[in-house]
Amino acid sequence: MGRRHPNPRLVKIHRNYTVDEAAVTLGVHKNTVRNWQKLGLESIDAVKPGVILGWVLREFLERRRVASKRPCAPGHLYCMRCRSPREPALGMVDLVVLSPTQGNLTGICPDCESVMNQRVRLATIDSVRGGLEIQIRQAESRIADSAVPSVNCDSKGDRKS
Ligand SMILES: [Zn+2]
Repeated sequence: MGRRHPNPRLVKIHRNYTVDEAAVTLGVHKNTVRNWQKLGLESIDAVKPGVILGWVLREFLERRRVASKRPCAPGHLYCMRCRSPREPALGMVDLVVLSPTQGNLTGICPDCESVMNQRVRLATIDSVRGGLEIQIRQAESRIADSAVPSVNCDSKGDRKS
């Protein structure tokens, strides 16, 4: 309930947390923390039980927060390394279609050259693309062509008199 994005500041950056401790600290279920791990939250599993470094956890939560609260302006993707939205280099992004409704935009950060990823709903892609040139790449799957939205029809939609 309203806990989908816990406050990153509850995490002490100089502490380490087990999954249980992280869950208690943030008031979420253990499975939520495990799910974060699946989503890329790194933990140190060489020790038992595995621990999550406080600053890693906080950073992870901050990224999620920013990404959810403040969607990037059109034409921008969020660079995790720069920790702010950036216009992808050359104004180009790739769209990988993940499902009939979801896709993933990837672009290169012009400042640090790391890869920026952003989940998008295909139905609303026009609201995030801005002036970006989108190239569609199929994920290695058997999604039918019909599932790909026609994001390239620039001029058609313009006249709604
Ligand atoms: Zn960057």
